[in-house]
Amino acid sequence: MPAQTAPIIGRLHSYETLGTLDGPGLRLVVFLQGCPMRCLFCHNPDTWDMKGGRSVTVEEIVAKARRMRPYFGSTGGVTLSGGEPLAQPQFTLALLQALKNESIHTVLDTSGTAVFSANECAHDQDTQIIKEILTVTDLVLLDIKATSADGFQALTSSSMAGLEHFLELANANHQTVWIRQVIVPGINESVESVQALGQFLQRYPQLQIQKVELLPYHTLGVSKYVQMAISYPLAKLPALPAEKLSVLQEEVEKWSFLQRS
Ligand code: SF4
Repeated sequence: MPAQTAPIIGRLHSYETLGTLDGPGLRLVVFLQGCPMRCLFCHNPDTWDMKGGRSVTVEEIVAKARRMRPYFGSTGGVTLSGGEPLAQPQFTLALLQALKNESIHTVLDTSGTAVFSANECAHDQDTQIIKEILTVTDLVLLDIKATSADGFQALTSSSMAGLEHFLELANANHQTVWIRQVIVPGINESVESVQALGQFLQRYPQLQIQKVELLPYHTLGVSKYVQMAISYPLAKLPALPAEKLSVLQEEVEKWSFLQRS
């Protein structure tokens, strides 16, 4: 009798069925639990705790995706989001592989910074697993929080080195990506800051960047901080006005290095 392999268990925060914002077409969005970053503007602090959420198997999610296949059409599929999916690298890899075995389109929504270790051995393992994850990811939604080391550290309480390493691996893999950046009043709302994002992206010329979406800072997540009885670092900051965002997005539309789909 062949040996049975134990199912790989992950931690799930929640699902969104028929999502339209996190990748092309209609999608099953799987919000995985756990994030090592602490972005000042995070509107999902309930996803931070690595032990929160509930247990889930690859099989449960694949079965749900199979049932939704009729809605996916030719462009939809499954998006892994969070939290940070790379904070559960083995589970994320197994899930993406299983979805690809079903010929389901896969999107990884990530900040790119989760699993890289200062320990050299662990770093090699992390590199290998990210390479494998990228080979079974059709599209990366990469949320770039900031483009200077100091700015990144101040905004996320994390080092930017992991993001840069992730980008090197994605660049080597000619990865198709959509870039996102949250525009926060008083932090990165200037045209110069958006231009710095453009210069930063051009350091990775083999990326297939189809779009750059600037997202307005909003205050919708504040109630979660109240519920969780933790202080919200940007408590007095107003949402970004829509007209401010349009001016910045016009700057992005000038970039000739984008490979618009
Ligand atoms: S990476 Fe996302 S989930 Fe994690 S702290 Fe930042 S905004 Fe929140």
